Amino acid sequence: MKAILDHVGIAVSDFEAALRFYRDALGLEVHASEDVASQRVRAHFIPTGESSLELLEATASDSPIAKFLGRRGPGLHHITLRVDDVSAALEQLKARGVRLIDDRPRPGAEGALVAFIHPSSTQGVLVELKQFAPKHPGTEAPKHPGIQAPKHDIVRHSIGDLELISVNDGFFRLDGGAMFGVIPKPLWAPKAPPDERNRILLAMRPLVVRGTRTMIIDAGAGDKENQKFRDIYGLDRSRHLDHSLAEAGLTVEDIEIVLASHLHFDHAGGFTVRDASGRIRPRFPRAQYVVRRGEWEDATHPNARTKGSYFLDNYVPLAEAGVLQLVDDDQMIMPGVRVRRTGGHTPHHQIVLIESGGQSAAFVADLMPTTAHLPDVWVMGYDLNPLETMSARHQFVQEAIEKGTLVFFEHDPVVAAGYLREEDGKRQVVATLESQV
Ligand SMILES: [Zn+2]
Ligand SMILES: [Zn+2]
Repeated sequence: MKAILDHVGIAVSDFEAALRFYRDALGLEVHASEDVASQRVRAHFIPTGESSLELLEATASDSPIAKFLGRRGPGLHHITLRVDDVSAALEQLKARGVRLIDDRPRPGAEGALVAFIHPSSTQGVLVELKQFAPKHPGTEAPKHPGIQAPKHDIVRHSIGDLELISVNDGFFRLDGGAMFGVIPKPLWAPKAPPDERNRILLAMRPLVVRGTRTMIIDAGAGDKENQKFRDIYGLDRSRHLDHSLAEAGLTVEDIEIVLASHLHFDHAGGFTVRDASGRIRPRFPRAQYVVRRGEWEDATHPNARTKGSYFLDNYVPLAEAGVLQLVDDDQMIMPGVRVRRTGGHTPHHQIVLIESGGQSAAFVADLMPTTAHLPDVWVMGYDLNPLETMSARHQFVQEAIEKGTLVFFEHDPVVAAGYLREEDGKRQVVATLESQV
């Protein structure tokens, strides 16, 4: 069998001391942590080239890691080998008399399948086998070990009187270089591993807001495009917005307001559908569609630079159906939900700021498409005015940190939402885990 070192797990009793060595002295980057509730453990990944280190902190005194620390003190806890098929690997090992802890694979973090081998067969090292398990057909396992598997999950949060549900219209791929502008590939590739066509995986995660009314912000790429387009953009909608809305207990009929951050195809493609007769009509039959006037003007008059992203079929039928509402300025769209123009990506790109009961959240769309885009200068090559993106992002991030704003990332393949932090000038996202599959 082919087994590749995925990561080395290290049990940590003093996380601050661990940071002083791995982060400060070695200068490695420690990723946002992930809590594995079933194991009562908090895992911090540190990419180290082809594989990574995983610092493991106990989150309860009766957790396996706490017991390990009590018995052996901090130190090497396990190594993890990636295999293509955990079940087959276990059969092979069993046939050779290897003592297993897990007879059959069990679910690990991020939808992976894992199984442990007993140290008595491995010269004293706890060995974990791991198989990235795409939960849905068409979801490819990421090639880079430090990067977790993509997630289709919906993620629910409550902010005061509002319920926020990050939904999903599937995944697509864009050129990694274009996604990171002037940032050299050796810097971005570890965070967003490119495929053989240099494309990186991106999600499309619209946000449903339920309050006095039910709103959806953006709607993914939809399904009007042809096979050539789907191939170029690696469009994977094996699970899409309808599935995701159903998981949230909603249908397209429930949506009363559709709000556009901007009208690029990966945000507005899902605004319309082609019906059986070939006619294109609004996707959400009861909704008013709210679009910023400047964005509407730009999108309906694309130029040579912008026409690759603006497709009239995605939004012109809304005007024809009489469901289009244009707004001119930053304003409240429904109680607790207002828009703010950021410009940058497109001249009238807007983000959505959500406030209720003293809490705040934000849907930042292409102002900060993924968690890899936290630094001000990691700006997409697609942005028409990168300097404007930088200053709008800078302002937003300062505010979000100050207010403890929950930030929703529209294109991150793994992290739907998180809180921003800044330490020694370095920004971090602390991902939330209130997701349900
Ligand atoms: Zn865009
Ligand atoms: Zn986008």
